[in-house]
Amino acid sequence: MTTPGRRVRAKLIPRQATLVSRTDLAGALVEVWCTDQTPLQPGDVVAVRVAGRGPVPTGAWRRYTVAESDGHRFRLLIHHNPGGAAAAFIDAVRPGHAVTIRGPEGAVLPPVGEGPLLVVCDVTGLATLAALNNQVNRDGRTEQITVAVFSENRHLDSSVVVSCLGDPAGEFAVLRHLDDIARRVSEHAGTHDGNARLLAIGEHGLTAVAKRAALGAGLATTQISTRAYWRPGRRGLE
Ligand SMILES: Cc1cc2nc3c(=O)[nH]c(=O)nc-3n(C[C@H](O)[C@H](O)[C@H](O)COP(=O)(O)OP(=O)(O)OC[C@H]3O[C@@H](n4cnc5c(N)ncnc54)[C@H](O)[C@@H]3O)c2cc1C
Repeated sequence: MTTPGRRVRAKLIPRQATLVSRTDLAGALVEVWCTDQTPLQPGDVVAVRVAGRGPVPTGAWRRYTVAESDGHRFRLLIHHNPGGAAAAFIDAVRPGHAVTIRGPEGAVLPPVGEGPLLVVCDVTGLATLAALNNQVNRDGRTEQITVAVFSENRHLDSSVVVSCLGDPAGEFAVLRHLDDIARRVSEHAGTHDGNARLLAIGEHGLTAVAKRAALGAGLATTQISTRAYWRPGRRGLE
């Protein structure tokens, strides 16, 4: 059994996980399963060392969300951003490779709430969505969840979303324009009589558009959660 104290210590110290499988999905998305000495939960965030040589902790680190876990195995869904510091790492990792990780460094799932939930996310938020989906299915939660995935990449379609989520807990659509996202959020807010909720995850511009639309349609800030994971022109966690 892992005690809370061990979990807190473990998260501070870089350690070696082992990559056990890698699947390249359409839409520039890579699914990896790793094993780690510390059991991680869906929604936990781990930092992965994606570049740099020499003794840990030098190098660049990027945060990824645990989409699913099974004892000491955990699954990540990583966007392959060709211009990013993580690109060479993502190209190179293969089953059997050691991966240096830290964490969990927080968790990203919203608390269980009441009222129909619309989740808006981009490719970097799919793991968080998968974690939420797993939690909802596992706990037999009955709240109404609908999902709008934003992607301009035509290869990222419904079949990719299904392979990320397994058994989607609610209806979902893949939308190609931010205007459609804003419309979807307004509709959701307008249809549910004041108790609608929004969770927006991914690039800062997407979460801002979704939040603005929700506020414009009358949702209170307490009904809106955002997780802005990256911002154009900014490099990730170093
Ligand atoms: C709490 C948290 C959880 C996260 N969970 C996930 C996750 O589960 N899966 C995941 O893929 N990412 C996740 N991210 C984002 C991830 O940590 C990186 O920030 C992101 O993938 C960019 O890293 P990079 O090395 O590719 O690009 P960087 O080297 O950091 O940035 C290079 C340039 O690329 C641009 N850029 C950055 N990200 C993207 C992108 N995704 N697409 C296109 N251009 C981009 C920026 O404009 C930047 O100037 C999470 C971030 C946080 C903070």
